[in-house]
Amino acid sequence: MAKNSNDAAKDAAKKALAAAAAKKETEKKKVTHTYTEVGGQSIGKEELLAATRKNALPYRIFAVILWVLAIAAEVFAILIFTHKIEFSFTVENPGWTISWIVCIVLDLIFVVAGSLLWKKGNHLDPASKKNKVRFWLHNNLGVIVSVIAFAPFIIIVLTDKNADKKSKTIAAVVAVAALVIAGLFSYDWNPLSQQEMLENADIETVYWTASGTVFHAYDDCSHLNNTVELFKGTSSTAIENGKTRLCKTCEARALREAEEGAVTVPSGNTETPEDTAAAD
Ligand SMILES: [Zn+2]
Repeated sequence: MAKNSNDAAKDAAKKALAAAAAKKETEKKKVTHTYTEVGGQSIGKEELLAATRKNALPYRIFAVILWVLAIAAEVFAILIFTHKIEFSFTVENPGWTISWIVCIVLDLIFVVAGSLLWKKGNHLDPASKKNKVRFWLHNNLGVIVSVIAFAPFIIIVLTDKNADKKSKTIAAVVAVAALVIAGLFSYDWNPLSQQEMLENADIETVYWTASGTVFHAYDDCSHLNNTVELFKGTSSTAIENGKTRLCKTCEARALREAEEGAVTVPSGNTETPEDTAAAD
């Protein structure tokens, strides 16, 4: 008896799961896309790169401004820790002072915000990977800025003769933690090279969404299931609009279909070298 009820419960659970899956499937199919065609003359490689540079410029300018603010915050942290300056609010809160910690927190916020903008700029206008060192430095400039924004403070704190050991230790630990956090946020874990971007710049029809950063080769790509409004155009137009990468799922599917196509396509290629020469 107990066994039967157990089985019945299992069956009911299975049915419920199947029903949920079916419901999900129909929901998936419910989305009908609307297409906004984005026209654009086919442009050359140089024009395309000029467009991506223009897209990235505001991000890069704001990144540098934020990084300058970060280093200014570090300078204040140093001056406050070494008692060169003091900000006191004596009106409402007598004796309350801005601690070096506030400056280090601001330093961290400015570095991370700057690095996120810098990385966004690099994804809109990727660097060439011809020179590997330059490519790494360009993508991870934020990591170098992180070091500049915290290492001098750490060195000055540790070598400060006037401070006691406890406050030196606290300040150094806080700044090292901030340096590590800033470095992790600044490192580009998924860099894009100009070469990778240009490889996919000549696809005739691709699709993209307003908010995404990639373009899709197929409008029934699973990543587009929840998006109604799609933009449609050539891949170079997508790149001009800030969608600089081909979606990984679509890329894998295109490769798979090309492989399958290579097997089934009849081998009767009518184009001979003479034809090609005549066409020139
Ligand atoms: Zn896709």
